[in-house]
Amino acid sequence: MRTVYVNGDYLPESEATVSIFDRGFLMADAVYEVTSVLDGRLIDFDGHMARLERSLAELEMNKPAAFDELLGIHRDLVRRNGVTEGLVYLQVTRGSAGERDFVFPDPETVAPTLVLFTQAKPGLADNPAARRGIKVISIPDIRWARRDIKTTQLLYPSMGKMMARRAGADDAWMVEEGHVTEGTSNNAYIVRGKRIITRELSSDILHGITRAAVLRLAREAQMEVEERAFTIAEAQAADEAFITSASTFVMPVVEIDGATLGDGTPGPVARRLRDIYLEESRKAAI
Ligand code: PLP
Repeated sequence: MRTVYVNGDYLPESEATVSIFDRGFLMADAVYEVTSVLDGRLIDFDGHMARLERSLAELEMNKPAAFDELLGIHRDLVRRNGVTEGLVYLQVTRGSAGERDFVFPDPETVAPTLVLFTQAKPGLADNPAARRGIKVISIPDIRWARRDIKTTQLLYPSMGKMMARRAGADDAWMVEEGHVTEGTSNNAYIVRGKRIITRELSSDILHGITRAAVLRLAREAQMEVEERAFTIAEAQAADEAFITSASTFVMPVVEIDGATLGDGTPGPVARRLRDIYLEESRKAAI
């Protein structure tokens, strides 16, 4: 049985509880981060904690613990659960005032809830899907307008994954005003010639931590990067496409709404970026 963390305690997962009045449960009044683990070490940890701080600040929520303490909890959970490859999930909610009320409770008297758990994922780096590439469909983006805040309001992304699955695909790219915003749980890219194209940062998309690292590494490798929106038609006519996220790293896309890209296998740019990202992030892991 897994050991999980709840508000200061390490507990067996079956004994870990949160109040039914917790605002994370009642209102999705919560933010989260997912940090991947390779070789038993944390990937892009500083980036995830910086984004957590920003999400909390945007929602006027108190930070539940200092950076060093959060690092310690991540490391303890990885060690206690013997995770060599997998994820650490962290969630902070606005806590429980012991009642249901739309008005935020006083942060001086109601402490945030902090929960962390690990998910072991052997084969996360050597993922067969990365050798095959994935298929995506497009769906309308009907999420709220603050997608730059990493909240637990994940019903629509979850529905999007189900729509993809029912259509025989792996994931969905969301489209707003004719342009792709992002994937249900990842950032979206296309490649034209040697140029990598991905939507620019704004409140329309989550500012992916993997995105930031991959674009930095691409520029360091003298690849061209263009940050702008693209349409599904442009993506279908592209040489390559891929997604990035903490749990998939760089994952090639080989089909978009039934149209095959290139020869239907992962392209050289996506494969190279995946290799570079895995190599560099393993080196920098803590
Ligand atoms: N976009 C959305 C909507 C996501 O949910 C995620 C990850 O969960 C990402 C992008 C990728 O972000 P990151 O690279 O930080 O995992």
